[in-house]
Amino acid sequence: MSDIPVSITETIDEIHIVAEMPDVNRADIRLAGTESRLDITVANESGKYSTSVTLPVRVDPHRATADYRDGVLEVRLKRAVPKDVGHSAVQATSLVKRFGDFVAVDHISFDVKKGEIYGLLGPNGSGKTTTIKILCGLLRPSSGEAHVLGRKVPDTRTASSIGYMPQELAMYRGLTVHENLVFYGEVFGLSKQQIEAREQALLRLIDLQDFKDTLVDHLSGGMQHRTSLACALLHEPQLLFLDEPTIGVDPDLRASFWRYFEQLRDQGITILITTHYMDEARHCDRIGFMREGRLIAEGSPQELLELTHTDSLEDAFLSYAQTQGAR
Ligand code: ADP
Repeated sequence: MSDIPVSITETIDEIHIVAEMPDVNRADIRLAGTESRLDITVANESGKYSTSVTLPVRVDPHRATADYRDGVLEVRLKRAVPKDVGHSAVQATSLVKRFGDFVAVDHISFDVKKGEIYGLLGPNGSGKTTTIKILCGLLRPSSGEAHVLGRKVPDTRTASSIGYMPQELAMYRGLTVHENLVFYGEVFGLSKQQIEAREQALLRLIDLQDFKDTLVDHLSGGMQHRTSLACALLHEPQLLFLDEPTIGVDPDLRASFWRYFEQLRDQGITILITTHYMDEARHCDRIGFMREGRLIAEGSPQELLELTHTDSLEDAFLSYAQTQGAR
């Protein structure tokens, strides 16, 4: 008796189990199980093979379907209770992104509740930007799926409810700060008056009132970054994806950004933010630590400190990184 290797993926309402088993007949394969376990047995003249798969969630054992083709058995099991998307602004389910042979995002699953600040934290190259790009619908996952504001990604209907501040400059360098803001406002269908009102408030936030008529190309990197934040916030989105919004921003302004993010959260806006400044992540309601494409720990800043008996999130990260080992 020997084992059959299997892989498991979750979707919003199903669990998929794939097992490679060449040189058997469909008739040799037996499936059995419970709400939390699937037993696969193959018995033919060359021997008996079996495996017992512990399921990540409860399933309805009476609604399993199986398909065996070209040496691959695929079993689909319905979740006993469908995943609740109602209270979540973002749901990532077993997201994988490969670039060639390289796995940049490796089976990531997490939820961001409506009205919380969720921080993805990790060193450069750990897969944070790739994850955000998948959630914004800019990159297609290799497998897994994501739901944003209750809709499966990508869906153009969510675009006007989302603000995205990418790491790279997403503005017109040959336009002034004001012209970029007007451009973004018009793209999102704001009236002239709405744009004017929002512009004043946002220029105060990013402390660029005196640079309103300066070409973006003539601004410092930090100022360009701040303008990019204003463009993402202009149409008052319900959900904000902020990719390293405080990079190159001096400490005083970083503190005022965070106060503003907390104000937005208190108004019910959801924020998914990435940062590699571990100290500022204490402002997040929950944090996911990322390393080498995987989510290695998740919790509130306080929980992560308590669980690792550390005083700083940096040490908490290192503690998880050491226990998880390298790929
Ligand atoms: P982070 O945001 O945490 O710095 P990224 O998501 O940008 O990490 O990148 C994760 C890994 O994926 C890095 O090793 C990066 O070089 C790689 N990567 C990102 N985009 C591509 C791409 N288009 N082609 C190949 N590799 C990529």
